[in-house]
Amino acid sequence: MASPFTSEHELLRESFRQFVDTEIKPHVAEWEAKKICEREVFRKMGERGFFGVSFPEQYGGSGMDMWAAVTVSEELSQANIGGLAMSLYAHTYLPLPVINAIGTEEQKQTYLVPALKGEKIAALGITEPGAGSDVGGITTTAEDKGDHFIVNGSKMFITNGTMADFIVLAVRTGEGHNLSLLLFDTKTTGFSATPVHNKLGMHSSDTGQLYFENCIVPKTALLGQKNMGFYYIMSNFQEERLIAAITGTASAAHATEKAKRYMHERQAFGRPIAKFQVLRHKIAKMAITVEACRSLSYRAVQEFIEQGPAAYRIISIAKAYVCEEAFYVINEALQIHGGWGYMEDYGIARSLRDIRLMSVGAGTTEIMHEVISKIELDNVKHDKQMIKARG
Ligand SMILES: Cc1cc2nc3c(=O)[nH]c(=O)nc-3n(C[C@H](O)[C@H](O)[C@H](O)COP(=O)(O)OP(=O)(O)OC[C@H]3O[C@@H](n4cnc5c(N)ncnc54)[C@H](O)[C@@H]3O)c2cc1C
Repeated sequence: MASPFTSEHELLRESFRQFVDTEIKPHVAEWEAKKICEREVFRKMGERGFFGVSFPEQYGGSGMDMWAAVTVSEELSQANIGGLAMSLYAHTYLPLPVINAIGTEEQKQTYLVPALKGEKIAALGITEPGAGSDVGGITTTAEDKGDHFIVNGSKMFITNGTMADFIVLAVRTGEGHNLSLLLFDTKTTGFSATPVHNKLGMHSSDTGQLYFENCIVPKTALLGQKNMGFYYIMSNFQEERLIAAITGTASAAHATEKAKRYMHERQAFGRPIAKFQVLRHKIAKMAITVEACRSLSYRAVQEFIEQGPAAYRIISIAKAYVCEEAFYVINEALQIHGGWGYMEDYGIARSLRDIRLMSVGAGTTEIMHEVISKIELDNVKHDKQMIKARG
């Protein structure tokens, strides 16, 4: 495959690399240790146009394609701070694509434009304490009162949950799959959020539990059509899963490079550990896996550019494969670092605990296998409506 990156992508890569070097890398240890996600980073990212690389110019983006998003993700992985990366992606690639795809002009001006500038922080609120994979099982309701909705319920594990200025919120507006999406302003009376602190990793991300108590939401907040929310969500998942595959690949590649460097530096039994065949073969298998992850995720990016959410087969395959295999690669990188890998010093411990989320978030591996097996065995094009929903 010829490189998909143009000179414009390379210019972006260079300027974002400088941003990562000066604005992110120096703070990684502090943000991780204090378990904080700073609002200021969003403002700086927006000011420099890094949120909008793949969004239309008319809303403040750069109008580039998904390869620009890949470029940003690959450079951000060099800072090895999965938590912050997740917060930034949960702002850009979870709630904003759906606003861009189906929002009204007024909704785009009110939410998309300031979010791309980093002036408003966004979140996507789907998961609830009692329903995650089973999106159709959510119980947060939006009761239709004519000119407004009354929202009641709660959401769990929402990235940027306590920081967000607005949430693309999944609510029940009828029986079964009759869900809708609302652009929920977090200043609304009756809304509250508490931080979820006891996470295995992703320490520098904000995770919240959200509560909605008789929140009055105007009808103008309805995103797209009422009762079509389930299909919008399924459609929007494709971009989220693609970003997960890209990020997982970049993290695995970063850990492999680190392990290779360490093998040349570290001595045991009078020689560099890079001389031990068993470790050399570990690197060989890690390199094979990283290349396989990259090939799959790049192919998924290309199909997404050509077909949009209709590329869900290859996106599901890439998401399932990369998110499992990235864990394998980073675990091997830790093993190569021996006891030092278990310490915070080399950042491999952080990579390992952060990557563990990837096979749980954005659709678990089991759910990806469900989607793939339905396509492979039953020839189910169950997402036809989802593809139409995106418009
Ligand atoms: C740090 C963090 C950040 C997150 N950020 C967000 C966010 O920003 N927005 C948001 O909406 N959500 C977010 N989530 C939620 C995440 O998407 C869910 O945790 C995930 O979808 C799984 O849902 P669950 O936790 O309810 O697990 P469950 O759905 O209860 O799954 C439990 C187990 O059952 C398996 N399972 C479930 N159904 C099936 C099936 N049909 N077949 C086979 N196996 C099945 C699952 O694979 C899993 O192994 C976040 C989660 C975490 C931990």
